[in-house]
Amino acid sequence: MNQSMLAIRHTSAEDIRELIDLAAQFKADIEAGREVDAGPRRTIGLLFFENSTRTRVSFEQACNYLNYRVVNFSGSGSSLSKGESLKDTILTLKHERLEAVVMRHRASGAAQLAAEYFGGPLVNAGDGQHEHPTQALGDGLTVLSHKGKLEGLRVAIVGDIMHSRVARSNAWLFSKLGCEVRFVGPRTLIPGSTAKLPGEVYYDLRTGISGADVVMCLRLQKERMTEGRLSSLGEYRRLYQINRRTLKWAADDALVMHPGPINRGVEVDDLTADGPQSVISDQVTNGVYVRMAVLNWVFQKQMAAVAK
Ligand code: ASP
Repeated sequence: MNQSMLAIRHTSAEDIRELIDLAAQFKADIEAGREVDAGPRRTIGLLFFENSTRTRVSFEQACNYLNYRVVNFSGSGSSLSKGESLKDTILTLKHERLEAVVMRHRASGAAQLAAEYFGGPLVNAGDGQHEHPTQALGDGLTVLSHKGKLEGLRVAIVGDIMHSRVARSNAWLFSKLGCEVRFVGPRTLIPGSTAKLPGEVYYDLRTGISGADVVMCLRLQKERMTEGRLSSLGEYRRLYQINRRTLKWAADDALVMHPGPINRGVEVDDLTADGPQSVISDQVTNGVYVRMAVLNWVFQKQMAAVAK
């Protein structure tokens, strides 16, 4: 199991640093047009049971750079639509000799279960509201490359904490690497269980982002909201939108982040999303390098375990 990447919560600070360093090395190679040394050629299954644009393409691009083969699989158009269980689907892929699986699934905890069935390296590409570890690693690399350090930074995660796996993975990653983490949003979107996460809760945007070095906006995840959690979008915008007026409450050189897809004009306005403090496009590019690092790293771990 230790050769999988399932959750940042269960990844040590040392491993996180190693992964970010490896990603930075891949980034330098690719930007310099150098061949990447990724070891033996592998076959990776990409299993997306839930919609994705960025994450899916970025894993595929990571495999291209690593010279790994990709087998694509999606929930619709497979035997899942005939009622096949997750267990049987994963076992089928195992017997078809895929060497690693990247999986996104709408159920929290599905990645852990699938890793147990698969037995080999499994990379969680987002499981329900639980974790999205490669997003957090890419965000860590992005902040590090802009700020030159992570230790001591104040990171404010703003918005729909309740439904966000990005918030959870990032809270673990930034706190493990020595940042002060804050959760900011309306009470209806910050569940009581947030108390188990590393970070202070703020219901007032101004206080919550004051002096923040990083303002991370989250998408309002309407597809996961089973009941009305907001009185109106207009009210949300008025109280929690990151825009030129509210960004002034953060540090002057604060980075603005968003994992995408953006509800433009809701959690962040256009001028800020596309403005000089935004590093949203870097998050996307760095996502490719950290996915290369994670895929390569799980195989390195596997080889080390076999050699023991
Ligand atoms: N793309 C991210 C995720 O899959 C964030 C989002 O969808 O809002 O969790």
